[in-house]
Amino acid sequence: MLRLPRFQFVEPATLAEALRLRGEALDSSMYVAGGTDVYPKMKRRQFQPATVISLSRVVDDAFRNGNGLRIGAGATLTAVSEHPKVKDGYRALAEAAGLVSTPQLRNMGTLGGNVCLDTRCNWYDQSLFWRTAEGFCMKTHAEVVCRVAPSSAKCLAVASSDTVPALIALGASVVVAGAKGERIVSLADCYREDGIRYLTLEPGEIVTEIRLPASEGWRSTYLKQRDRNSFDFPIAGVAAAVRWDGNTVADARVAITALGSRPVAVDASALVGTKLEDDAVAAVADAAHKAARPMDNTSGTISQRKRAARVFTERALVSLRA
Ligand SMILES: Cc1cc2nc3c(=O)[nH]c(=O)nc-3n(C[C@H](O)[C@H](O)[C@H](O)COP(=O)(O)OP(=O)(O)OC[C@H]3O[C@@H](n4cnc5c(N)ncnc54)[C@H](O)[C@@H]3O)c2cc1C
Ligand code: SF4
Repeated sequence: MLRLPRFQFVEPATLAEALRLRGEALDSSMYVAGGTDVYPKMKRRQFQPATVISLSRVVDDAFRNGNGLRIGAGATLTAVSEHPKVKDGYRALAEAAGLVSTPQLRNMGTLGGNVCLDTRCNWYDQSLFWRTAEGFCMKTHAEVVCRVAPSSAKCLAVASSDTVPALIALGASVVVAGAKGERIVSLADCYREDGIRYLTLEPGEIVTEIRLPASEGWRSTYLKQRDRNSFDFPIAGVAAAVRWDGNTVADARVAITALGSRPVAVDASALVGTKLEDDAVAAVADAAHKAARPMDNTSGTISQRKRAARVFTERALVSLRA
């Protein structure tokens, strides 16, 4: 059995205190929300923080109306997947949250933690024992090469959050608090193509709220491929959202995940003005196929996962027909 290392656990009561504590120890501390990713990774020594700063008293779990829907970053995935307003207006998010992992982990795991989830890789997601024997890689040891692509200057670990593509397709933004105050950022702009520095947020910033625009006229869905439907991470995921004006598409968004180090918004403009006829759907499915750049560092084969981008985009869009 893998055990947690010794660490200091602090539970600040205010956002300001959490930001101060983290700011004082950027290199040796981490935030924890539900802990469903942080603690297993600490057991495997992928993360080795001396201090773990809990966000449980800092971010709330409320669902508020306000020109759409505002969800506190501390809302659990179970609450997100079961909330009537999410199920009615933002189905892709309800489906994505409901497909994360297992019921137990969804009861603990939060939406904020899912938005900030670490990238994954077959080489990195191993015990310390395994990595000591096989060799470390640059995600934990900057001086070592990438073991998946030794000539790559960047880590190619895979974006693996299920809710992020759904949130991007739904046009979400996040409220971020940091030392310089609060700002609102489009969620699509929060990620970069880099398996180590995968978030564009400043170190120490906290996601406090996820904001969804009004949902009138929108229909959406999320499809996920994984090894075992009982609990695995995505190896390909597609979210699609379409706004209908009568029987014509007025706006559309498609986002893919687990097919590169960042979730990607696919150009879905070919759908606007159509009735989601087969040729329009095929054009966007082609775009998703082109945007998918899987590497051989998670389950499935590269061609299988790339093909999933096309097939899932087609299936998702066809399911959204009026
Ligand atoms: C067996 C197993 C299967 C899993 N399957 C899936 C899956 O299918 N799909 C999936 O998406 N995930 C999966 N996960 C990962 C995890 O359970 C979820 O992503 C969960 O939503 C993480 O939320 P958390 O609150 O537990 O995050 P934590 O583990 O507490 O934190 C995750 C990361 O986010 C940071 N963080 C947390 N909250 C905030 C915040 N508000 N602001 C800034 N930073 C923050 C933490 O510092 C950490 O870096 C799985 C995990 C396990 C162990
Ligand atoms: S992609 Fe390369 S650097 Fe990144 S975790 Fe995998 S082996 Fe390590």
